[in-house]
Amino acid sequence: MYDVYVGSGSHHRIGRGHGEQLAGAVAQNLEGFFRCMAPRGWTRQALGRRALRAERRLADARLDEIAGIAEGARRPYPEVLAYNLFYGEAFPDDCTVMFAMPDATAAGKMIFLKNSDKIGGESMVGEGFYEHKEINVVLAVRPEGKPAVVGVASAGSTGVKMGANDRGVATGTNIARTAELRTRAVNTTQERALDRVQLSRDGLEHATALEAGNAVVARLADHPMATPGNLEFVDPTLAYIIEGSYDRMAVQFIHAGVGVRTNRFVVLDALNDPEDLSSYCRYVRCTQLLGARAGRLTPADFIAFSTDHANGPGPNSICRHGVHYREETSQSAQIIEVDAADPSRSRVWLALGKPCWAWRDPAGSLELTMRFRPEEIPEGFRTGEVWKRFWTERPNVEEAVPTAAG
Ligand SMILES: [Zn+2]
Repeated sequence: MYDVYVGSGSHHRIGRGHGEQLAGAVAQNLEGFFRCMAPRGWTRQALGRRALRAERRLADARLDEIAGIAEGARRPYPEVLAYNLFYGEAFPDDCTVMFAMPDATAAGKMIFLKNSDKIGGESMVGEGFYEHKEINVVLAVRPEGKPAVVGVASAGSTGVKMGANDRGVATGTNIARTAELRTRAVNTTQERALDRVQLSRDGLEHATALEAGNAVVARLADHPMATPGNLEFVDPTLAYIIEGSYDRMAVQFIHAGVGVRTNRFVVLDALNDPEDLSSYCRYVRCTQLLGARAGRLTPADFIAFSTDHANGPGPNSICRHGVHYREETSQSAQIIEVDAADPSRSRVWLALGKPCWAWRDPAGSLELTMRFRPEEIPEGFRTGEVWKRFWTERPNVEEAVPTAAG
């Protein structure tokens, strides 16, 4: 279908390959984004101008990649820039993150999981969306002189919903459903704010969780996140967890055992919205699951956790289902098991679509190592066809089948 897939080289070249390959989906994602922002009073032109004013919030490498996407997809640069800068305002990242440090696993290797959950909306129709949800694709890139990255992204975005690099750092993000988020209108703080999926991707340019976390915290001290939320950077020696709200930030360091983040704060607990039942249910369930197998956890356990339907299947289970597209439900999942001795040999598992369907079908999930070549990623994972096939709200309540992940 495509003559060339460019997933390596300069950032501009990587972006151009992304834009050319996914031109239809990029165009539709941009249209969906502008339609989601319109009821908030933002015209396409005003968002483009706002994006150009805010351009310097992104690193040069990201800007090069965005310029490449715009060129490849033949879209105006300010539109692609606006999508990358203000994406989180239109599409919040409701997600579950679970991890185990090496002492908590059977093989002595850190394991990290994220289930990515998203809302849908009336405006989300067209080629980039499917039944009112945004299509998820695998982003696998090998930039010159920088760590290779594998993650899940939306077409047209340089940010990652979750991902890992070949130095052994994994990352994830979650919006935090605080009382303030529910009641607060857009204001000047938001005008200066940074987008979490971009911060996650920037963090993956560092070789350790400590360096990634410190770099991101320094930037957040200057410009807060666009919405309250968590950012996680985890390697075999440190889990560096950042909780950020409009006027405060907290950092938690975990060196051993297990950790969980859902759409709530743990350190900044006082800010949580008491009406947000789902985040509390998932936090408690994840903590129970990890605790029950701490010391002997395997990647196969994390695949099972990703499909867990306790408290559901529904909005409160880890694998989240809904009956209306406005509900936040699970769209994709990624697991990494980091080999500290040689991080390039770390193993990664990706599932596109509903975790309880995609993990149980070899066509819906993918295993690779961080030595991957971008062209090795099957086309359906790069274009979103796999996601379309495995995205459904219907729960798969079959017994979990054993997988290769052991
Ligand atoms: Zn499910």
